Amino acid sequence: MNQHVTKSLIPFNKPFIVGKELHYIAQAVTLGQISGDGFYTRQCSQLLQERFHIPRVLLTPSCTAALEMAAILCDLKPGDEVILPSYTFVSTANAIVREGATPVFVDIRPDTLNIDEALIEAAITPRTKAIFVVHYGGVSCEMETINDIARRHQLKVVEDAAQGVNAFYQGQPLGSLGDLATYSFHETKNYISGEGGALCINDPQLVSRAEIIRDKGTNRQEFFRGHVDKYTWVDVGSSYVPSEIVSAFLFGQLEMLEAISQRRETIYRFYEQGLAELEEHGLLRRPIIPAECVSNYHLFYILVKDQETRDSLMQHLNEAGIKAVFHYIPLHNSPYGKQVTTGSIHLPITENLSGRLLRLPMYYDITDSELEQVVDTIRRYFDR
Ligand SMILES: *Cc1c(COP(=O)(O)O)cnc(C)c1O
Repeated sequence: MNQHVTKSLIPFNKPFIVGKELHYIAQAVTLGQISGDGFYTRQCSQLLQERFHIPRVLLTPSCTAALEMAAILCDLKPGDEVILPSYTFVSTANAIVREGATPVFVDIRPDTLNIDEALIEAAITPRTKAIFVVHYGGVSCEMETINDIARRHQLKVVEDAAQGVNAFYQGQPLGSLGDLATYSFHETKNYISGEGGALCINDPQLVSRAEIIRDKGTNRQEFFRGHVDKYTWVDVGSSYVPSEIVSAFLFGQLEMLEAISQRRETIYRFYEQGLAELEEHGLLRRPIIPAECVSNYHLFYILVKDQETRDSLMQHLNEAGIKAVFHYIPLHNSPYGKQVTTGSIHLPITENLSGRLLRLPMYYDITDSELEQVVDTIRRYFDR
């Protein structure tokens, strides 16, 4: 008898197939077009537009690419300022810096870890052009307040909804609330295509320029519609169109949106219940979802008392074969963040929480027994 038992390794993330992804990829080849903007790209855009009430959705190769397009569409110029949280992925800030504009980092709320809307107005100057908000973990920023500030100061609002696909604020989908918004379909997000993203355009006046920027600065889309008799270079642009192979995979996932989101909620609830007692004992804090928000359960994190505890708990989990990770190094303290801002910036909540946060494994295929293992391992750590 083979008594050999291998310790199972629970990764932090794992790509998954839920539906017809592979069939659709084969289908895309059969249809005779694997460059962009074919059948599956259109299917995905249409599905996202209808489901999330967004006037125009353009698929992109990544959320990073969509953020770059958004920054161009905001007409950012050197000297302009853009307000954003420091607690975010670099792409939010890169998009701004690439246009020569200056990022102005604002602190986050201790409950949702989203930009603190109460601090935005004090950061506005005559040079402020836009607010880039980030819906952390699929929980919405306080968009009513933020959109009101933007209206009063005539600023554009861009939602970095990389983590916010199929999440809601006051009943409205994230991605439909700013002038522009961006989604990610990176393999670490809820709905995946390896790399992938989308630009959501809620201001109809920005649609035609967005199409041009996405297609290398040409008016090729107008040409396809028969509105011009040849296409040519009319604006700045780049190659922001994903391949049909990627879109075909994505369509297989988007068709299964409901199943994926249900599974993620189940995983989230398992962690939430499993760790409730540790929270009652003051050993950790679980995520908070305000009443006006419906989460897509993009991630599950815990906050522990200090960085030392976080690091040793992470090591404890890793030694048990469980990959738990943290993010983000606050951008205002990063080497490049310091170069593109002036003066010393102090964001106490961001600095404090980023050192105490730990993310737990979260992916569609994770089994109930693996989840139990994660929870038990965390309990054992605090039992010591
Ligand atoms: C993942 C992520 C991005 C980048 O998405 P890509 O599709 O990998 O380019 C940008 N912003 C936030 C907040 C993210 O979580």
